[in-house]
Amino acid sequence: MHQSNSDRGPLNILVADAAGFCFGVERSLRLAQEALAGQARPVRSLGPLIHNPQVIQELQEQGLTVINDPKIADSGTVVVRSHGVGPSAIEQLNESGVEVTDGTCPFVGKAQRHAARLVDEGYKLIVVGEHDHPEVRGIVEHARGQAIVAESADDMPEELGDRIGIVVQTTQSSNTLQEIVARAATVCSELRVFNTICSATIERQEAAVAVAKKVDLMLVIGGRNSGNTRRLVQLCEGTGTDTRHIETVDEFSPDWVESLSSIGITAGASTPLYAVSDTVSAIKDVRSAKVVE
Ligand code: SF4
Repeated sequence: MHQSNSDRGPLNILVADAAGFCFGVERSLRLAQEALAGQARPVRSLGPLIHNPQVIQELQEQGLTVINDPKIADSGTVVVRSHGVGPSAIEQLNESGVEVTDGTCPFVGKAQRHAARLVDEGYKLIVVGEHDHPEVRGIVEHARGQAIVAESADDMPEELGDRIGIVVQTTQSSNTLQEIVARAATVCSELRVFNTICSATIERQEAAVAVAKKVDLMLVIGGRNSGNTRRLVQLCEGTGTDTRHIETVDEFSPDWVESLSSIGITAGASTPLYAVSDTVSAIKDVRSAKVVE
């Protein structure tokens, strides 16, 4: 039987704590804004500064140009993306005489240094992460290319040698790390693990799962190219709650909330908070709803 708005009661909206921009994203955006306000023009970023197409478009409207090849930069400022790059790109930029602003998140920098050290000390290095993610490519380059990238334990070769070192893409889930560590521990006699998942990722994942367990539908807002957003989607789905990934409020459909009593919202580390408040407003436009703690 179809329920009218009046008999359904208000829809409860739960917004996860720690949704939206993390420290590293805020830092790289601040550095880009400072460069745009400075004298060393043009201002370019090496790769998209963060994985959010809408924020990148706003920066481009303010004058930032995204380049993918460091050789193109011959003047002005180049801001290095929050995901970091390999040493060769930094060398090329320094040689070309441009001003380099390093937007690499310090947590990513830590993973790069641990990877390099493990290879220097003779460990067979496993980088737990997505094969094509720029952060992972940068970490592998810091390890002089001597790394195996594993997205799951199934990606690990049979032969790994006796001394294995592990670092992790900063936005991976702890479950994936544990699975790979458990497999590695069965095949070597020495295992060194640097858990480089960042605190912002852990906070966002825990908060998203806590909300997803309490609601009828979970919305995760963020770029489709954002690894940390995709992981939030997977973790929310893992609770058994129906979960939708939207990039912006334009993808929200009023049908979704027609017969719900509660909805949860979270957002990836590269999603601006206005995307959350826009979505809350869109829900309130079609249902009587209140945000609850
Ligand atoms: S998710 Fe973590 S590692 Fe990535 S930019 Fe944010 S704080 Fe840095």
